[in-house]
Amino acid sequence: MSTVIIRKAAYNYQLIRPIVFEMLESGEAPVIDTGTRVLIKPNFLAPAIPEAAVTTHPLIVKAAAEFALGKGARVQISDSPAMGSFAKLLKKGGYEEVLKGLDVTVKPFEKTIQVDVTQMMLTLGVKNLFGCIVGLKKPEWHMRAGVDRQMFGRLIVSIFEAVGPAYTIMDGILAMEGQGPGRSGTPRELGLLIGGKSAHAVDHVVCLQVGLDPEYLETQRNAREMGVYDPDYLGWFMRKFVIQKPVADNKACKLCGECWKYCPAQAISYTDRGISFNTDTCIRCYCCLEVCPHAAIRAQKPLAGKVVAWFTKN
Ligand code: SF4
Ligand code: SF4
Repeated sequence: MSTVIIRKAAYNYQLIRPIVFEMLESGEAPVIDTGTRVLIKPNFLAPAIPEAAVTTHPLIVKAAAEFALGKGARVQISDSPAMGSFAKLLKKGGYEEVLKGLDVTVKPFEKTIQVDVTQMMLTLGVKNLFGCIVGLKKPEWHMRAGVDRQMFGRLIVSIFEAVGPAYTIMDGILAMEGQGPGRSGTPRELGLLIGGKSAHAVDHVVCLQVGLDPEYLETQRNAREMGVYDPDYLGWFMRKFVIQKPVADNKACKLCGECWKYCPAQAISYTDRGISFNTDTCIRCYCCLEVCPHAAIRAQKPLAGKVVAWFTKN
């Protein structure tokens, strides 16, 4: 079970600082020591004043940076704005002013590297990580996957899992309503800061706060279907006994090692009895199935999953 911390807040540094520190000091937050490299990834969508609620408020970024600096970390603040120049964003968004005097590196992401998520997938607290795709690559991916909402949802979840952020803080003090996240939305006061180790859990709580069924969010549904997030107590049981999983035919397997080399979750190991999958860490991306040159891996629904499927169909 993930813990999500929700606190009433306003854009007042005396209020925000202790809340952000409380979140980052909680048992679920990453341990930061002297020399730890900390990357803070705010939502820097486009140059906009803080009151427009288009970007993460600079005071929240400042509090997170001060916390990490206080632990002796090396702190970098980066994102890849979808529109406008990075320098203009820092000035207009108030970051230049607020971060003055702090020993942090502030720069845009410069290049995208290839990671082992298949092209069938792309995914968003969770959606924010799509910002790690640099500049013009973003619309290119939107074009490729945007025609299919589910595929886009899977892609966003896969990018999120590949980046693997250690902690997520959601700036819900001033949220955006309507046709966001650009300038067509309307800022709406929620007065909340929400933080958690699992961005999936943070997103889930935000949905409940605004009265939205979490299943309506592609990222929530896809994360659940991919087995990377289970919002209920049955999560472990579902992953183990209901959701489809990769299985190997050890007679066909030639032990070439391609599957465990490509597995992004490092969920495959070799034992005396052949290939073995760790179903707790496997993210159901099925890269292993695609790369196996001997067709020795297939996706299989466990018996309980088949029973559930039968009952849902009939
Ligand atoms: S890629 Fe296929 S053949 Fe190679 S080790 Fe994995 S299961 Fe065996
Ligand atoms: S075991 Fe296969 S399906 Fe599971 S995470 Fe690894 S590559 Fe993906």
